[in-house]
Amino acid sequence: MFSRRDLLAVSAAGAVMTASAASAASFGNPDQPPQGAVNARGPGNLTDPGPQNPAIAGQFPSSQSPPATHIGGLPLDWASFNIAPKRIQNGGWARQVTQADFAISEEISGVNMRLTAGGIRELHWHQAAEWAIMTYGNCRVTVLDVHGRPYVADVKAGDLWYFPAGAPHSLQGLGPDGCEFVICFDDGKANEFNTLLLSDWFAHTPPEVLAKNFGVPAETFAKIPLQNLWIFQGTLPGDLAADRKAAGRNASAAPHPFVFSLASSPPTKQNAGGDVRVADSSNFTVSTSISAALVTVRPGGVREMHWHPNADEWQYYIKGKARMTVFNTGPNARTTDFTAGDIGYVKRNFGHYVENIGDTDLQFIGVFRASRYEEVSLTNWLTHTPPALVAQHLNIDEATIAKWPDNAPGLMPKS
Ligand code: MN
Ligand code: MN
Repeated sequence: MFSRRDLLAVSAAGAVMTASAASAASFGNPDQPPQGAVNARGPGNLTDPGPQNPAIAGQFPSSQSPPATHIGGLPLDWASFNIAPKRIQNGGWARQVTQADFAISEEISGVNMRLTAGGIRELHWHQAAEWAIMTYGNCRVTVLDVHGRPYVADVKAGDLWYFPAGAPHSLQGLGPDGCEFVICFDDGKANEFNTLLLSDWFAHTPPEVLAKNFGVPAETFAKIPLQNLWIFQGTLPGDLAADRKAAGRNASAAPHPFVFSLASSPPTKQNAGGDVRVADSSNFTVSTSISAALVTVRPGGVREMHWHPNADEWQYYIKGKARMTVFNTGPNARTTDFTAGDIGYVKRNFGHYVENIGDTDLQFIGVFRASRYEEVSLTNWLTHTPPALVAQHLNIDEATIAKWPDNAPGLMPKS
């Protein structure tokens, strides 16, 4: 067997190539002009004498030396909480990546927040719906549904919450060490720093109106904060049952939970390559504008080639090392590297796959502005199309196509 490099060398030397060799020479390097280090003829093509930042360059080997199949110029699909400035207050901090910083992220914006034990994200509401995944610790959430029914719950790592647009809510870190989580808004422009805050409305309402509204003397409001709180240190709440009872006050409880334990839910796909867990309005009833897939990929495995017909995919990388390639018409194909704390983004219907290139499990969550999770698996399509038709497209015999997985596996293990 000739290697591709051997064949290219033969070609470069001007040797006459057979038809089959000419075809093989372009395998894995199909486009004109040829791209990739494999085509470099001299050492100057591979060096980079200019200014360097080795720490950043080292995180992006697929940018430094893209695969030879890379073509065109898709927009940047990488962002990271690791480089987002923190707004730190007594009680915790938050940082965010919105469309203002990440142009491609039209449908979803992301917030990473830490609350100390007792730290409170103050009572507030906003224009966008809020979906979140807990990544650390324990948190108590409160929310009021549109029918005035309260809901109070405690969440832990791997759990989700969903608050509809306009639903008033709060978050508080619990013991022993508070919590950390990632919020997604169903609007790429939504901003955690300009939510509607309880303290702001009180401070900017005339005391006599407050008095009338609440049916108590105006002096009741003499000590309200005149600056907003946003995040502040509070005292740890009591037990959950007592908080639920206290919030009940002549109202019935909200019938549908606003939280969901995704990490401990049964996987929708599971094999030697890893597993996928899905939360959408079919199992997490209240989550009508967001669906999500929590994906774990074993070392060397790949999240199979697929696309999503109904929404863009906003990804948050929880652990491990990933390399994702995105494909669109043009042709365009772009490969980018991701590590923990990074954000990826794939426009709807763009083909993509995610490889685990590390030696530990890779885990990421894909978040979609859609009521239901939907994907199209490439193998599932090609194994449920008349084999003779597929064979004529790809010059692959039908017996080989018959060996392809026909169950939309979700993941494929290291081969
Ligand atoms: Mn909120
Ligand atoms: Mn996907």
